[in-house]
Amino acid sequence: MTIQDAYSKSLIKTSNLITPIIIGTNSSSSNTGLQVMTDRNLINRLERILSLNIDKIIIFGVPPSHDSNGTQALEKNGVVQSSLKIIRDSFDKKIQVIADVCICQYNLSGHCGIVNQNNYPDNDKTLKLMSKIALSYAESGADTLAPSSMMDGLVLSIRNKLNLNGYRETKIMSFSKQFSSLYSPFRLTAYMKVSKIDKSNYQIGYANSREILRKVELDYGEGADVITIKPSMANLDIISRIRERVRCRIAVQHVSGEYAMLKAASRNNLINEYDWLLGYFACLVRAGADFIITYEAEGIAELLSAQ
Ligand SMILES: [Zn+2]
Repeated sequence: MTIQDAYSKSLIKTSNLITPIIIGTNSSSSNTGLQVMTDRNLINRLERILSLNIDKIIIFGVPPSHDSNGTQALEKNGVVQSSLKIIRDSFDKKIQVIADVCICQYNLSGHCGIVNQNNYPDNDKTLKLMSKIALSYAESGADTLAPSSMMDGLVLSIRNKLNLNGYRETKIMSFSKQFSSLYSPFRLTAYMKVSKIDKSNYQIGYANSREILRKVELDYGEGADVITIKPSMANLDIISRIRERVRCRIAVQHVSGEYAMLKAASRNNLINEYDWLLGYFACLVRAGADFIITYEAEGIAELLSAQ
């Protein structure tokens, strides 16, 4: 092991890592490197994750059918709800489960909300729906809800809904999601529609750091327990500045486009992916990240446990 590797390994812990799981009714894999799995294989997968000492996952659902308002996200036996129940029955509290709260995988438009006549999400209608979805996931066993639609007032709306229904202990992991082309592999894997989706009027632009920080402070003030920065790339300055502004935990998501680029470079023998990731993730921790959501969590955990 090189001295640099040793430094990186001392900064990253498996307790920092969160594994994303995309769950649907049919399993599939594609050249994006992302996989959709069904709940039939969930127990085996989680046993492996736990054996690597990873104890946190985030679930993204891909429903069997879609409609304009993404109503499958509210189904009592929807893909996320059934998976949460299986996890709770099989693992009790051994694994912390975060559930992504959005409807872009569930509706026809691919937008993160109920769209109006102009094909933009209606903020207030979307808040009501997201709060109901969050409650449904909490009732099914989620420890943490992760709203990612970037609607104004979303954290407060979900916090109030959870508190009113006896879920004061359920945490909220709020996403600070910047407008980016790096989400396309996830969309190719999970969406009904992947082209011509313009989310620039509700996701935050890269260039406006004051707007990014203002939105994070609003989410923190509304009761967010964890702030998640997405994507991780080119955001070390933002992570570091948020670290100074909020007292809650900070997560960073190494998103699907970053993962796909890494895999493509590795496939072509241009870089060693694990050498790169060890150094890169150490930098994310150095900047202030407490948690890293990454499709490579299991590979990194294996590497950390190797002597
Ligand atoms: Zn969304």
